[in-house]
Amino acid sequence: MRIIERVTEMQQQAESWRREGRRIALVPTMGYLHEGHLTLMREARNHGDEIVVSIFVNPTQFGPGEDYERYPRDMPRDELLAREVGVTVVFAPSAREMYPDRYQTFVEVMEVTQPLCGRSRPVHFRGVTTVVAKLFNIVKPHAAVFGEKDFQQLTVIRRMVEDLNMDVQIIGHPIVREEDGLAMSSRNAYLTGNQREVALSLSRALGEAEKMVHGGERRGAIILDAVRSQLSSGGELRIDYAELCDPDTLESVTEIRGPTLLALAAFVGHTRLIDNRVLPG
Ligand code: AMP
Repeated sequence: MRIIERVTEMQQQAESWRREGRRIALVPTMGYLHEGHLTLMREARNHGDEIVVSIFVNPTQFGPGEDYERYPRDMPRDELLAREVGVTVVFAPSAREMYPDRYQTFVEVMEVTQPLCGRSRPVHFRGVTTVVAKLFNIVKPHAAVFGEKDFQQLTVIRRMVEDLNMDVQIIGHPIVREEDGLAMSSRNAYLTGNQREVALSLSRALGEAEKMVHGGERRGAIILDAVRSQLSSGGELRIDYAELCDPDTLESVTEIRGPTLLALAAFVGHTRLIDNRVLPG
C-alpha cells in the first residue's frame, strides 16, 4: 500500500492505472477510520481493481466555531486499517496542498443543499462538493463509494455528478451500526459514557418511527411528535432537526405515501450527531 501526499503524484498514478485498463474505486473519508469506513472500502473492492482511500479533514466544509481543529486524527492507525482491508493507495494531502494560496474556486449545488443539515451548516455542502470534485479530478475514479449515514451528502453528490456530467459511478452503502444501534461515526469518540447512552435515543427514535409506520400510522406530525419525545427523554440532548422528507428531492413530507426519509440531527453535549432511516411506504 502506498501513501501519496502530493496531488500531481496521485494524478500520475491514476493516469498510469487508466492506461493499463485498471478500474479505480475511491472512498473519500476524513480519517479516524471505523468499521463504517472499512465496510465502504470492502464494497469498493466490488467496483474497482485499485482502491484509493482519501484521508483529508476538509477545512472548507467546517463552519466557524465547528470542530475542524479538534476533529479526531490518527494517521498511523488509519494506515494500518486501510492496509488490512487491501487498499492500494491512501491519498492524504495537506490542507495547503488542496487549497494553496489564492485558491478561489467552489462547486455549489443549489437546492438539495438547503434543507436539513444545510440549514444549520450553511457552508458545509459547498465545501463537500468542492473537495469531492477536486478528489475526482485528482484520483480519476471510475466509481466512488459513500455512506448513507450522510444521506443528504450522498443526494448532493449524485446531483453534482449528474449536473456536471462527471463520469463517475456513485455507490451508496447502508449505515453501519454498533451492536446497540448507534450509527458509527468518528465523532462518537467525543462522547462520554453517559453521553453515549443518550446518543442511543437517535437510533431508538428511528426504530420507533418505523414501528409506527408498520402499525399503519401515516401522519407525519404524529410520527415526528413521537420521535421528538423519544429524543427528549434522554436529558443532555438538543434536537437540531427531526424531519420527514422525500428521499430523492429531500422536500418536506407531511404524510407517508411512499418510502420516506426520516432524518435526525442532534447535539449531545457539544457533539453533533446525525442518523436517518428510509421508512417503508
Ligand atoms: P467521514 O470520514 O465521516 O467524512 O465519512 C466518510 C464516508 O464514510 C462518508 O461517505 C460517510 O457517509 C461514510 N460513513 C461514515 N460513517 C458511516 C457509517 N456508520 N456507515 C456507513 N457509512 C459511513
